Amino acid sequence: MSSAQRIQSVCECQALLEAELDERRLVVTGWARRPGGARERAPANTVGQGERIDAVWQCPFCGRNTLRSFYLGR
Ligand SMILES: [Zn+2]
Repeated sequence: MSSAQRIQSVCECQALLEAELDERRLVVTGWARRPGGARERAPANTVGQGERIDAVWQCPFCGRNTLRSFYLGR
């Protein structure tokens, strides 16, 4: 049984995007944080199964939907 994972990316506005995933690679919680700033909740979702998923965040700072692909190898 695999454990929870955390993924990170960076928005075009330079906010750090983070999401915590459960063992099925679904988002438990998403956040965004500006450099040197406070962390805010950010709606996030993942699409895909297996080792390769796409994650999309809605950045609370700039409003962009930021899509990133991740390889979650074991
Ligand atoms: Zn942004």
